[in-house]
Amino acid sequence: MFFSFSIKDFLDILLVAFLLYYAYRLMKESRSLNIFFGVLVFTVFWIFVSQFLEMRLLGTLLNRIVSVGAIALLILFQDEIRKFFYGFGTHKRVRDAIRFFSGEEKQSHTREDIIPIVMACLSLSKQRVGALIVMQRSLPLNDFIRSGELIDAKISQRLIENIFFKNSPLHDGGMIISHKRITAAGCILPVAHDLNMPKELGLRHRAAMGISQETDALAIVVSEETGNITVAFRGNLQLRITAEDLERILTEDSF
Ligand code: ATP
Ligand code: MG
Repeated sequence: MFFSFSIKDFLDILLVAFLLYYAYRLMKESRSLNIFFGVLVFTVFWIFVSQFLEMRLLGTLLNRIVSVGAIALLILFQDEIRKFFYGFGTHKRVRDAIRFFSGEEKQSHTREDIIPIVMACLSLSKQRVGALIVMQRSLPLNDFIRSGELIDAKISQRLIENIFFKNSPLHDGGMIISHKRITAAGCILPVAHDLNMPKELGLRHRAAMGISQETDALAIVVSEETGNITVAFRGNLQLRITAEDLERILTEDSF
């Protein structure tokens, strides 16, 4: 028996290996690795029974399970599938291409917008007033904006401090800054459920982490308990940063 093996087959195998590796990584991150291995063992068994051994009865039964199983998998791995496509959609090059073709402008923040935010965080940190500020980047945060109170005001240090002041009706929840404006405050953000986040971090930090995992936004937290400033971006936390660090992060080109 002769096998013809072309470049196309090599590429085919390479792509399947890449997809399997990517699925493995996603499952590992979301701690559903056992399900991944279960599905892998089942698939190998199914191919063996129906393709190699050609057992018709068991093969038909397994085929039926597989056709229903595909839908079951979609439901079971909803989050992972969302993350998978989200990862592609928010990849820097993909976003740049979309921006190029749609003529959408990059939301670049100037020093004029950044300094009042940094100064407000520094002042809130000194006074031990808790704050959660989300800076929108290319993905719109409309659903989260709607969960709070619309403001649409110029970015100003005093307004930010005023909103997070303990007796202010809007101090609870997150503030969203988009299109160089304070768009909303008192917004409810998605809470991250990661088990490996430091135990001392509560819901405010988890909400910052959550929004940074689900969108490409950057979130700043000022801790009420310690006065520490933390930044969450792309699912990573930078803990206990200084005002200078914050200014640098916000000014960085990638932001
Ligand atoms: P801190 O260091 O300031 O105490 P923390 O991470 O320990 O922060 P908590 O003490 O649990 O967090 O902070 C609770 C506050 O976090 C709430 O009063 C609320 O303002 C905010 N918060 C909690 N959950 C959310 C959420 N889902 N979306 C937006 N803000 C939230
Ligand atoms: Mg707390």
